[in-house]
Amino acid sequence: MTNEQKQIGARIAVTAAVTIIASAVPVSVYGGSRLLHMLPFLLAYILISYDVFHDAWRNILRGQVFDEKFLMAVASIGAFALGILKDGEYSEAIAVVLFFQVGELFEDYAVDKSRRNVAALMDIRPDYANVEKEGSLVRVDPDDVAVGTEIVVQPGEKVPIDGVVTSGRSSLNTVALTGESLPRDVEPGSEVVSGCINMTGVLKIRTTTEFGESTVTKILELVEDASSRKSESENFITKFARYYTPIVCYSALALAVLPPLVRMGIMGLAPAWSDWFYRALIFLVISCPCALVLSVPLTFFAGIGGAGRQGILIKGANFMETLSKARYVVMDKTGTLTKGVFEVTGVHHSRISDEKLLELAALAESASSHPISKSLQRAYGKTLDRSRVTDIEERSGRGVVARVDGHTVAAGNSRLMDELGIAWIPCHKVGTLVHMAVDGEYAGHILISDVMKENSPQAVQEMQQSGIECIMLTGDGRKTAEDMARRLGIHQVYSELMPEDKVAKVEEIIRHKGKKEKVLFVGDGINDAPVLSVADVGVAMGAMGSDAAIEAADVVLMDDDPLKIGKAIRISRKCMRIVMENIIFAIGIKVICMVLGALGLANIWMAIFADTGVLILAVLNAMRALFVGNV
Ligand code: ADP
Ligand code: MG
Repeated sequence: MTNEQKQIGARIAVTAAVTIIASAVPVSVYGGSRLLHMLPFLLAYILISYDVFHDAWRNILRGQVFDEKFLMAVASIGAFALGILKDGEYSEAIAVVLFFQVGELFEDYAVDKSRRNVAALMDIRPDYANVEKEGSLVRVDPDDVAVGTEIVVQPGEKVPIDGVVTSGRSSLNTVALTGESLPRDVEPGSEVVSGCINMTGVLKIRTTTEFGESTVTKILELVEDASSRKSESENFITKFARYYTPIVCYSALALAVLPPLVRMGIMGLAPAWSDWFYRALIFLVISCPCALVLSVPLTFFAGIGGAGRQGILIKGANFMETLSKARYVVMDKTGTLTKGVFEVTGVHHSRISDEKLLELAALAESASSHPISKSLQRAYGKTLDRSRVTDIEERSGRGVVARVDGHTVAAGNSRLMDELGIAWIPCHKVGTLVHMAVDGEYAGHILISDVMKENSPQAVQEMQQSGIECIMLTGDGRKTAEDMARRLGIHQVYSELMPEDKVAKVEEIIRHKGKKEKVLFVGDGINDAPVLSVADVGVAMGAMGSDAAIEAADVVLMDDDPLKIGKAIRISRKCMRIVMENIIFAIGIKVICMVLGALGLANIWMAIFADTGVLILAVLNAMRALFVGNV
């Protein structure tokens, strides 16, 4: 608990104690003075409610007159005034505010708990960095470490800031970041990202960013920002409260004034002012909308936290809501459904030696982040002398053109060859082709093939079973694409698409879908950042994906597991269900109690249940959203 929470807790306890003791003391003890008898109650009342009054007043000054604090203030003052009339029965007035505070405290605690859960579950925030000073290690705030500083990370510590290893070898545990449980080996020259845990050796790392720009900070910001993006349901509740609360206040006023006037003027009866005044107060307390106002955002918050624990980062409640309505899931092939780790399976029609062709390809591709280029570099195996390469031009969706040792080298698909006006030789084998041209002449092609992720078929199957249509888009050739789609059980596949064709395709799907149906696009972000932002919800593969993709996406899957797509949808559906349950439950109970209250069949304790009781139940229900592990 925070200090503030403890303080409110103490106020609640003291108020309750004073009220109970004061209620046990009869007026006669005070020598019959009703004023003295009232004094301890008044003090208790002020102690418990001063901040409610303060907030209500502040909101009135801001022009927001009717909010739940205002309701509570009016209702409790009314109850207190009634207490004076009714021979010193003040405990009801105090109870109204006291239980309101209990509800708020509970809600505050729940929010804190889910926030801490998010941070703890991800458990990646580094607390310090070690810097060597005069031969000994000093712990410093990572915020104070300048770019280019050498930091020391010992076994068992978290890498606090992104950087490059300058000395030492070790294995890094990246599971908190990516969900990937295999450790990653690093040596001098390896890039390391913050948030990994160093497992075996001491590493010296030269930082390449500031702490504020580091991966770990970005991820945490992303999670924290998520709660500030409001969902439609939240906006609805805010709007609802804006109309609802004044209506309730005026209704209560009418309830207090009209029936007595009618009794007096028309029916010729005694007005029974205090009776109707009491009913109006009950009505006010019951109608407090805090169960809705508080539990709906809390559900989203908890759901985002629960999803985060599963390696699914949802950037806002609004995306959670859209995700739950997903009807079409459009997926990129490379890096999303496949591992994006190509193996060279053949070099054909080479004019130069196969080895030399691969070397040229690897050099030309040395600056690209496309999975194909990474694979060619790996297949070549030797260290690349990047100084041999100049004028690198990456043509997205086609390939690269660069100068290697003074020769113009082009590596890419048939479209690239067509653009360069170079005749190319097709291949009869299934796989992705990298055509090569040197100085404008065809130099052969490298056949590479990608491996499907183990979970892809199951991921597709699960989604299709829950009524989602899976569509595959790819820039790769038709044969490879259709072969892959058949093995996955996907019926709609579009191949040989340029990045802009992918955008057009997704826009087309969005145009033809039903109004309430949403379109998801899932990609690794290489060449598809624009599509990610066009789709209703863009989902990026976080481990493989580029920074641009993680930035452009609305949902990031930390471990690149396609099963998480369906899981994210199921989590969002569960949250929406909880939100609906709470809305219906809270409104239902309140309407029933309000009717009873207006009819004079409810007392203040029932009203307090309809307010605080409903709030606590709704909050408990909302907290279920944290536990979405096995949806
Ligand atoms: P996808 O992710 O669906 O494969 P991309 O737009 O990333 O789509 O790439 C489309 C195609 O363009 C690839 O299949 C490949 O043939 C070619 N290509 C793209 N970038 C490169 C590259 N760096 N080297 C070689 N070929 C490339
Ligand atoms: Mg791609």
